[in-house]
Amino acid sequence: MSYFLTGKTGPWEIVVGLEVHAQVISRSKLFSGAATEFGAEPNSQVSFVDAGFPGMLPVLNRECVAQAVRTGLGLNAKINLVSRFDRKNYFYADLPQGYQISQFEHPIIGTGAIDIELDSGEIRTIGITRLHLEQDAGKSMHDQHPDKSLIDLNRSGVALMEIVSEPDMRSPEEAGAYLRKLRMILRYLGTCDGNMDEGSMRADVNVSVRKAGEAFRTRCEVKNVNSIRFVMQAIEAEALRQIDVWEAGAIVQQETRLFDPARGETRSMRSKEDAHDYRYFPEPDLLPLVLDQAWIEALRAELPELPDAKRARLIRDYGLTPYESAIFVQEQATADFFETVAQGRDAKQVANWMLGDFFAGLNRTGKTIETSPVSADDLGALLDLMTDATINGKIAKEVLEIMVDTGEKPAAIVESRGLRQVTDTGAIDAAIDQVIAANPDKLGEYQSGKEKLFGFFVGQVMKAMQGKGNPALVNAALKAKIG
Ligand code: ADP
Ligand code: MG
Repeated sequence: MSYFLTGKTGPWEIVVGLEVHAQVISRSKLFSGAATEFGAEPNSQVSFVDAGFPGMLPVLNRECVAQAVRTGLGLNAKINLVSRFDRKNYFYADLPQGYQISQFEHPIIGTGAIDIELDSGEIRTIGITRLHLEQDAGKSMHDQHPDKSLIDLNRSGVALMEIVSEPDMRSPEEAGAYLRKLRMILRYLGTCDGNMDEGSMRADVNVSVRKAGEAFRTRCEVKNVNSIRFVMQAIEAEALRQIDVWEAGAIVQQETRLFDPARGETRSMRSKEDAHDYRYFPEPDLLPLVLDQAWIEALRAELPELPDAKRARLIRDYGLTPYESAIFVQEQATADFFETVAQGRDAKQVANWMLGDFFAGLNRTGKTIETSPVSADDLGALLDLMTDATINGKIAKEVLEIMVDTGEKPAAIVESRGLRQVTDTGAIDAAIDQVIAANPDKLGEYQSGKEKLFGFFVGQVMKAMQGKGNPALVNAALKAKIG
């Protein structure tokens, strides 16, 4: 399905390529032993290397390299056995070294691809150009002191993966789907937590527009967008701006821009810098990075099942629909929960209960699968009580609500509140007699042909039994009594 924006001169196509900075999950930094924990006291996790002290030497962190390789494998990408670090020189107050150690010409990971699914169900493959390792800078804080800016170097030297896509996306929706899919893969791999609000994943958004069938036109790069919604808004705003420029007969200048979410517009930050502006050169303090194929294979063998494979398996093994499986694989913990409950039970029923009342209960109480007061075993036990006819479906919903609120076990709730299903035909008959006696007019109407009223009688009898009647027995007994 195509997505076009319409200007004075007709439809325009959007072209988007994303550069995602993903913070590597690792206890220590890319080139030093300092800790990486989020939210620590400012400047409490800074080694001499991170502070750019003269004469300090970087030492490459093996775990960060392993994380980059795992990510490359998860993105179906080429792992380069030889890569190299380069110095990217620039001055900034939060960059004490005066350069960033990055990878330029020879990144650790080459081309790959990920599949995204659009709302229409259409699958599109988005190319990955490369992934390279680099160190993050510190953070300037301009809101802590009336007339000074302060610098926190805790982030200085933390490992980042820069994941560059091909200019393969054609709409805000595709960019959103790409970011969600990428984040999901990184989380499954355990290589980045993907928390955009903590800054551990941020995107530079490259946007251009063109007429159908044309070659690419000049792009602008919107820097450091920190939520998926803002990325989508920034693309739309920037594309509309460029369309106006082209349609006014002017030329879009390649530049770096910022997105202002409050105004919903991008504005110019600086003219585009090129590689030569950074005076890249091979980092003299580090040897080329040479990987061993056997080590890569060992990492590959330990990869978890990734979202696409898991989804296909849930459909195949449990008969789930594409929609159900897509929801369960969004978080590994949700899929695990489902599979635990589904063991030895009716998987379709498990899916219905999870997607319906269980998720509704978690939503209502602001809980997630991880913080759920109801364990997979508890939910399974509840379904078992229904299967063995201890309770009926309507009561099960009530029990589940109590479970979500209190964390009590289902059997205990059923016993303590007397919710067992009534299968005693004497009790059912008594309730029926009572309802018939109270509704002689309705009975007359029913018997003179208003068959719809049968449902009314079932409802009244269940109500008289506080919802605990066995529905099949109530139906049968009622049929026998009133025909
Ligand atoms: P740089 O390092 O200067 O930012 P790259 O060649 O690494 O340049 O490309 C950066 C990003 O720009 C990539 O994600 C790429 O897909 C995207 N891109 C390249 N050309 C275009 C274009 N014409 N329109 C939109 N995005 C583009
Ligand atoms: Mg760039």
